[in-house]
Amino acid sequence: MNTTLTNGIEIIKATTSKINEVDFENLSFGSVFTDHLLECDFKNGEWQTPVIKPYAPFLVDPSLRVFHYGQAIFEGMKAYKDENNDIWLFRPDENYKRFNKSAVRMAMPEVPEEVFLNGLHQLLQLDEAWVKKGKGKSMYIRPFMIATGTGVIANPSNDYKFMIILSPVKSYYSGDVKVLIAEHFSRAANGGIGAAKAAGNYAAQFYPTNLANKEGFQQVIWTDDATHTKLEEAGTMNVFFRINDTLLTAPTSERILDGVTRKTLIDLAKREGINVEIRPVLVSELVEAAKNGTLKEIFGAGTAAVISPISGFSYQEVYYELPKIEKSMALELKDKLENIQNKLAEDTFGWTVKI
Ligand SMILES: *Cc1c(COP(=O)(O)O)cnc(C)c1O
Repeated sequence: MNTTLTNGIEIIKATTSKINEVDFENLSFGSVFTDHLLECDFKNGEWQTPVIKPYAPFLVDPSLRVFHYGQAIFEGMKAYKDENNDIWLFRPDENYKRFNKSAVRMAMPEVPEEVFLNGLHQLLQLDEAWVKKGKGKSMYIRPFMIATGTGVIANPSNDYKFMIILSPVKSYYSGDVKVLIAEHFSRAANGGIGAAKAAGNYAAQFYPTNLANKEGFQQVIWTDDATHTKLEEAGTMNVFFRINDTLLTAPTSERILDGVTRKTLIDLAKREGINVEIRPVLVSELVEAAKNGTLKEIFGAGTAAVISPISGFSYQEVYYELPKIEKSMALELKDKLENIQNKLAEDTFGWTVKI
């Protein structure tokens, strides 16, 4: 095996590549992975040497803490290749900082920058052929950490495993998304883990989302857990509302995840001269705006789909269909953002970071 140590990272190269087996024009999101992954274990109170090695399953003990008590966090970010074959990350520091915030909330150790960011740079360099150029094409990056201590003891683990896996993706259009406004279930509560990117937040959403699916809705718009009167997130995305020509979105809180796409869109919209209001948005004002025709658009915002337009919502058994509009603010902002990410437009904000 070809093993080298570069900048404190051990690299074990795959002897063959799977890249020729992949149809890059027909990728279903997050299902194909590159030749290598990064792995770093936390043992005896410290982070061990990170290793980049061939992507492969691994054997674990059934009593692993993550299986029983759910200590698991993740991130989602993307890399892009430009016309000169340079690879760019989009605001990677934001994901790095958020990962460690999630770690603290879940009583897990923070991951050093050399492991997370330097490790990611080297992993992307090694699998650079998997990052394809062109608008809408990108590499979805999934850093995650799990508790690997053994024993069904309800204490935080002493051992952890940090990994980064890479999945080439194509921008996708989510289609006609109809949403149900939550009147009973909650995604997050004050004092809970809603602001952390914890795996359990997703598991908790699956059941209410399945119920919504059965009624013909693709997603749930989550409301505040105490009163169910404030609109907070759409599925696993932050959510924006356009009333007349003003964009509204809720402030981040203990219940609302501080999305990178959300804050990026706020800055982009402001630059475009769009009026943006960051304040609690009430279900009642949404219903009112839908009734009087001032509600123009609703969309979700997150790294995976970038922007996901919503075509209508249901609240208290009444369905409100949004008007078809000529000039969608959502799609215009998505286009502007994707151009910056793919280096097709000038990045005046300094968001892109070269590998
Ligand atoms: C990841 C996530 C988002 C979106 O965050 P981005 O940084 O924009 O990808 C929004 N809401 C929830 C609950 C999330 O887990």
